[in-house]
Amino acid sequence: MDPRLREIADHTRGFLPDDEADALRAAAATARPGLWLEIGTYCAKSTVHLGSVARDRGAHLVTLDHHHGSEENQEGWDYHDSSLVDPHTGLLETLPHARHAIHDAGLEQTVTLLVGSTQQVAPWWTSPIELLFLDGNHTEDVAQHDYAAFSRHLTPGALLLVHDVFEDPRDGGRPPWNVVQRALASGDFVQESVTGSLRALRRTDGDTEEGSAR
Ligand code: MG
Repeated sequence: MDPRLREIADHTRGFLPDDEADALRAAAATARPGLWLEIGTYCAKSTVHLGSVARDRGAHLVTLDHHHGSEENQEGWDYHDSSLVDPHTGLLETLPHARHAIHDAGLEQTVTLLVGSTQQVAPWWTSPIELLFLDGNHTEDVAQHDYAAFSRHLTPGALLLVHDVFEDPRDGGRPPWNVVQRALASGDFVQESVTGSLRALRRTDGDTEEGSAR
C-alpha cells in the first residue's frame, strides 16, 4: 500500500484492525475492476484501504452511509465518540471526516460518497457489482436487508466481503454471522478466507436465492 495512504488510513477513526485491513486489500486485489460498493463508510478508514486498491485496479468505489452512526455509535453505547456529534443537529455526523480522509488520500476521482440509508438506495440500485463490502448497521433486520438487496447485483465471480463476523456470540453480535451462513447456505457463494472478523466469499454462479425468485 502507498505509505502516504497507509498513514492517512492509520490516522482515520474506525474499527478495522491492521490484519483485517491487510486482508481487505488482499481480497480486493483479486476483484475485477468495475463498480465496487462499500456499505458503512463511517469516517472512511476502510474506504481508504479499499480505495487504494480500487485506484490501482481501475475500479470505482461507491461508499454508502447515512453518516449518523449505527446503534453502537450512539450516546451511551460502547463505540460512541462524542467529538463526532454535530451541535447543529445533535446527531453523530461522520460525513466531513470521511470527506477529509478521501480528499487527503487523493481518492476523490476513485471514490463516490453516497449519503443515505441502504433502504433509500436499494430500490433504485441497478448496477452490477464486482465487490460488495458489508459493514453497515449490524442489527438483524438491516444486515439481512443489506445482504439481500445488494448481493443480488453481484456478478458471477464477484467478491462478497463481510465485516464483524463472530462465530462465538461472546465476541460480537449475530447478524453478520447469520448473513454469512445465509450466503453459504444459498449455494451461490464459497468462502475464500477468514481473517479476524473479516470473511471473503466469492459468488459462484449467476443466480442468488433472491435472484432466482425475482
Ligand atoms: Mg465493521
